[in-house]
Amino acid sequence: MVIVGAGFAGLYMIHRARQRGLSVQCFEIGEAVGGTWYWNRYPGARVDIECVEYSYSFSKELEQEWDWSERYAGQPEIERYANHVADRFDLRKDIQFGTRVTHTHFDEQSQRWRIRTDQGDELSATYCIMATGLISAPIEPRFEGLETYEGEQYLTSRWPNEEPNLKGKRVAVVGTGSSGIQVISEVAQEAGELFVLQRTPSYTIPLRNKPVEPGHALKMKRQYEELRDRQFNSFSGFTLVHSDLAPPPSQSALEVSEEERRAEYENRWASGGLSPYYAFTDSLLDMTSNKTLADFAREKIRERVDDPGVAEKLCPDYPILTRRLSPETNYLEAFNQPNVELIDLHEEPIQHFTPSGIIVGEREIHLDAVIFATGFDVMTGAMDRIDIRGRHDEPLKARWAEGLTSHLGMMTHGFPNLFWINGPHSPFYNPILLAEFQCDFITDLIDDLAQRADSVIEANPDEEQRYVQLTNHIGNSTLYPESDNYYMGDNIPGKPRATLFWFGGFPFYRKQCRLAREDWKGFIEMG
Ligand code: NAP
Repeated sequence: MVIVGAGFAGLYMIHRARQRGLSVQCFEIGEAVGGTWYWNRYPGARVDIECVEYSYSFSKELEQEWDWSERYAGQPEIERYANHVADRFDLRKDIQFGTRVTHTHFDEQSQRWRIRTDQGDELSATYCIMATGLISAPIEPRFEGLETYEGEQYLTSRWPNEEPNLKGKRVAVVGTGSSGIQVISEVAQEAGELFVLQRTPSYTIPLRNKPVEPGHALKMKRQYEELRDRQFNSFSGFTLVHSDLAPPPSQSALEVSEEERRAEYENRWASGGLSPYYAFTDSLLDMTSNKTLADFAREKIRERVDDPGVAEKLCPDYPILTRRLSPETNYLEAFNQPNVELIDLHEEPIQHFTPSGIIVGEREIHLDAVIFATGFDVMTGAMDRIDIRGRHDEPLKARWAEGLTSHLGMMTHGFPNLFWINGPHSPFYNPILLAEFQCDFITDLIDDLAQRADSVIEANPDEEQRYVQLTNHIGNSTLYPESDNYYMGDNIPGKPRATLFWFGGFPFYRKQCRLAREDWKGFIEMG
């Protein structure tokens, strides 16, 4: 088995493949394990699902021996955790770092994948696993004149190992999604002047991070089994363990009085993090319900920002949750500082970079450093960057340029024995737990194959079409299509507009996977 990527999905796949007795080779572009937590080492990078839930569940020993210091750990701690897992399960010996897989072609004759890397490796494999990440392929900043700009330049998703010194400097941040918001909150504390270049504001909520008290950690460890059970039966894979708020929601926002609704939203804001996702059943289904939450969120923004004009610019106008909610720490308060200026790019568009800075609207801003937090080619991007060809030499990229296809968000017809984890059409779900589920599922399929004395798994095209239709139907029943967002591919010019995620919740997804395996219905009989 060849595995591409040594993030959380790739690491677990190595472990499972070894247990299954397969020989494994994993390739990783980075110089160490961790995937997204290796690359996104910008100041302020932090998870927003509580760590006891954003962690592997497969090893009871691992759960018991690892201690999280904060409810929402920062990047260094999560990277240490990934390294600990790699050491504990002795995974490094099957990983070749500093290596990009460039080609994987299916060879009809041998029924094997032929893989090539940028380091000159050539090998063949029965199984090819893309553990390339859902939000991992950065959009390279393309701005007129950037090549002439002489100051420092950083990309949040490719942050250097050696921490840049931004103290007292004139810094601009382009982009105000989750990454921008986290880096802005930190850099505002040290930059001499910080210019925030905002095209679209994000809905924000306080993260309410705090240290994990030893008593709480012990309690969690005792309850791990029950917690994992709740997670696996939840819609999104997190359960707000740190609060008294209990998912799942059972009521529409429109079924309760205004006072009750407000009290619910106040509780969610007091709890912080991603808790609003679980406030009411229809926040993402009904525009009127959604507006009650959006109005509340805008009110909270206005409360925290001193200058009403700046506050208005920070208030989004699209349906809340249709773009990622951004939990933050003191982000909005940064705009009350004299060294921070918000630049609304609709009023003052970026014209071009100059050797000493950037021209926005009619003025030039002199800069020592610019930080791009400009996002990712989500879901398909990382795989599109590899020349993947299936039967009849068909490029996967060309197939997907016509419209996204997948079976169970893990494979597609014509690309036998090729699987992806946390990739296109996978559920919007806790990515570590999803990786475990999908790696286990793939391993089960390989077991089935052995029992059937087959060597090739191929998605059944009719069942695949049914899965795609169901995924699109669910996506179109939500409010996600009502804004421009990366869930629909809108942030990449030319990307066909379609839901990239399964929004039907994990339990319903798991059922699709179970049904597909029953009588091998989801797959073609090869033998
Ligand atoms: P993102 O949400 O896609 O945000 C990219 C930002 O860059 C947007 O504000 C976008 O504006 C702006 N932008 C892009 N091109 C631009 C241009 N040419 N000129 C001006 N502005 C431009 O990307 P992200 O912030 O990296 O977050 C991606 C995802 O990663 C998140 O949604 C989340 O799922 C994950 N993440 C999670 C955490 C966490 O857990 N705490 C932290 C970071 C990231 P427009 O919207 O107008 O295009």
